[in-house]
Amino acid sequence: MIANEGETPGFLQKPPRVTSSIDWNAEGKQHGYISAPYSANDSAWGAVRVPITVIRNGTGPNVLFTGGNHGDEYEGPIALKKLAASIDPASIRGTAIMIPCLNPPAVQVGARCSPLDGVNMNRAFPGQRTGSITEMLCHYVSYVLLPRVEAVIDIHSGGKTLDFIPFAAMHYLNDAEQFERTRGVVQAFDAPISLIIEELDTEGMIDGVVEESGKVFMFTELSGGGTTTPETVQIAEQGVINVMNHLGMLEGEPNTRERRGEQPSRVMATPDMNSYTISDETGLFECLVTLGDNVEDGQLIGRIHSIEKTGLEPGLYYANRTGTLIGRHFPGLARPGDCLAVIGIDQEEF
Ligand SMILES: [Zn+2]
Repeated sequence: MIANEGETPGFLQKPPRVTSSIDWNAEGKQHGYISAPYSANDSAWGAVRVPITVIRNGTGPNVLFTGGNHGDEYEGPIALKKLAASIDPASIRGTAIMIPCLNPPAVQVGARCSPLDGVNMNRAFPGQRTGSITEMLCHYVSYVLLPRVEAVIDIHSGGKTLDFIPFAAMHYLNDAEQFERTRGVVQAFDAPISLIIEELDTEGMIDGVVEESGKVFMFTELSGGGTTTPETVQIAEQGVINVMNHLGMLEGEPNTRERRGEQPSRVMATPDMNSYTISDETGLFECLVTLGDNVEDGQLIGRIHSIEKTGLEPGLYYANRTGTLIGRHFPGLARPGDCLAVIGIDQEEF
């Protein structure tokens, strides 16, 4: 049979090459793995295994919780590991799919991208059935896991090269009803900042695949610098529980910051590219403001000093809008194209 242009011949419409040990019809808690074939020098008939926990109790919301999409971000993996172990299946309604380390090869080496194929997982969605190992894992998530859920909570942090005031975020969405559902989840997560974000680049992210299917997608950036703090792990753990409360998966009201006597979540936005200051050069980054500082449009916020020569004026970097510094380049070295600063603005309401 010859397929029409743009069509896939029937014999090519095969299921993903990735499989799992999960019985999707079973009730209770299963700790298993997703297995992607990986034939390499050190294992001819080997596989990359992704640990997965599925907790199911009757009908109810179906939600996918992921961490470790990037391998140098630790709040998601730690919080989801703890919750996957501790949540009693009898206490939930519906199905929680928890994948603490979505990209184990990257997590194992503490790197953003996979060491096996060099691919950044969150630029490889929806993935490819016959692609590299990371692309195959993305394909499985897109075509097997996402159809099973109504919402995805993807826990990120700044990793080794960014640092943030911890925030839960959603994108601007055209569909008002989808926006409302997503807003409810972001507010329930109750991070120090609840952010509506216009990103520098969204192509290839899991975000868009979920959003285009009309489902709820929320992500976080919880601090960074390639480590965790007790506070940021707690934000991740409590946030996931709060979302499960909000969606009716777990009994009880979200344990909000307000209830704990803390500052309520600050609603902010990065509405356009003026929220970002980008490096034009290589050198030593001198950040002149601290996370949480208010800055004025045109304010000098950083300098980049040449490594090669003395006596040169440093490159000067300015805020492109008035607002609050919510994110910054983390290490002391900068290169052209690096994001040096992220400036958010307060919103009256979501
Ligand atoms: Zn990330």
